Amino acid sequence: MSAEIPTEQWAQVVEKPGGPVTYKKIPVPTPGPDEVLINVKYSGVCHTDLHAMMGDWPIPPKMPLVGGHEGAGVVVAKGSLVDDISIGDHAGIKWLNGSCLACSFCMQADEPLCPSALLSGYTVDGSFQQYAIAKAAHVAKLPKDVDLEAVAPVLCAGITVYKGLRESGARPGQSVAVVGAGGGLGSMAIQYARAMGLRVVAIDGGEEKGQSCKALGADAYVDFQSSKDLVKEVREATPEGQGPHAVLLLAVSERPFQQATEYVRSRGTVVCIGLPAGAYLKAPVFDTVLRMITIKGSYVGNRQDTQEAIDFFRRGLVKVPYKTVGLSELQKVYDLMHEGKVVGRYVVDTSR
Ligand code: NAD
Ligand code: ZN
Ligand code: ZN
Repeated sequence: MSAEIPTEQWAQVVEKPGGPVTYKKIPVPTPGPDEVLINVKYSGVCHTDLHAMMGDWPIPPKMPLVGGHEGAGVVVAKGSLVDDISIGDHAGIKWLNGSCLACSFCMQADEPLCPSALLSGYTVDGSFQQYAIAKAAHVAKLPKDVDLEAVAPVLCAGITVYKGLRESGARPGQSVAVVGAGGGLGSMAIQYARAMGLRVVAIDGGEEKGQSCKALGADAYVDFQSSKDLVKEVREATPEGQGPHAVLLLAVSERPFQQATEYVRSRGTVVCIGLPAGAYLKAPVFDTVLRMITIKGSYVGNRQDTQEAIDFFRRGLVKVPYKTVGLSELQKVYDLMHEGKVVGRYVVDTSR
C-alpha cells in the first residue's frame, strides 16, 4: 500500500441487529490479490441498508457490519492480480461486491444469482467507511467526468430500476406504474422510464412526494394515502383506461404487492423489486390466467446493466434528486427513512 493510506478510518458500524449505527474509527482493510481498495468519497443510502440493520430478511447479515452499497470513490490500492484497473481510477462499490465468475449463472451474466455472491454492506463490509474493498472484476467503472457525489445513487437505485424496467418488457410509448415513486429507487425509475420513452404513473403517499414525482417527469401521481379507489385511479391515468403495461413494485410495504395485479393491463407484467419484511404476494388465479398477467422478480443488475445505467446518467438522460449529509449523520437518515419521509435519496459524505 502507498504511504498516503492511513491505518485507521471513520466508519458507521452496526454492532447488533436492530442497530443503531455507531460512528467510530476502525482499521483500513488490505485488498486481497483480486481486490481493489477504494477511497469512498460519497455513498448513497438505500432502504436495503436499513433492512440489513433491522434484520428484516431471512438471510442474516454479518455482524458487526459496515453497511452501504452505493459508494463512489477513487482506487487507492490493488491486489497483484488486478491489471485492468489503475490506482487513481474512479470506481463504484455496488451491492454485488463479487461473484465466482465460473458458475452457470455467472457464465451467462446472471451474476446476481451466483450462489457464492458477496454482497456489499451485507455479507462483506460496504461503503459507509472511508476505505472499502471490492472484487476488481465487479467494481463499477466511473468515467472521470462523472460527478462522484451525484452518481452514487445510480450504483444501486439506478442499476436496479434500469434492470427492472428492462425485465418488465415495456416498450417506448407504453405505460409503467412506479409504486414507491417518491423514494430513492422510485425517483430514479421515473427518470429511466422517461428516458426510455415510457409514460409514468407514479404512486406514493403525500403531497411532497407528489410534487417531486411530477417534477421528475411523471405523467400522473396517485396518492395511496388519500386515494379512495387506487385501482380505478391508476387505470384511469393510462391512455385507454386499461391500466399500465408494467408495474414496478418498489414500495416497502406489502399492500401494493397484493394490489398490482388488479390494475395492471391484461398481458401486462408486474415486477417485484422492493423487499418489505416478511411480505407475500397474492393474486387471484382466475384473473392472472384470463388476463394473462406475468408476475416476476428483478434483482439488481449485472456488470453490463451497471455500465449502461451509468451511461444514461453520464449522457444527462437521468438526474438524481439527492441531499448530502455527513457520514456521521447516517442514523438520522435511517430515522427519516423508517418514517417514510425521505424524498429521493440521501448521500453521505465520508469526509465529515
Ligand atoms: P425508500 O424508502 O427510499 O422508498 C420507498 C418508498 O415506498 C417511499 O417513498 C414510501 O413512501 C413508499 N411506499 C410505502 N408504502 C407504499 C404504498 N403502499 N404504496 C406506494 N408507495 C409506498 O426505499 P428505496 O431505497 O427506494 O428501496 C425500496 C425497496 O427496494 C426496499 O425494500 C429495498 O430493500 C428494495 N431494493 C431492492 C433491490 C433489488 O435488487 N430488488 C435493490 C435495491 C433496493
Ligand atoms: Zn440498494
Ligand atoms: Zn457464480
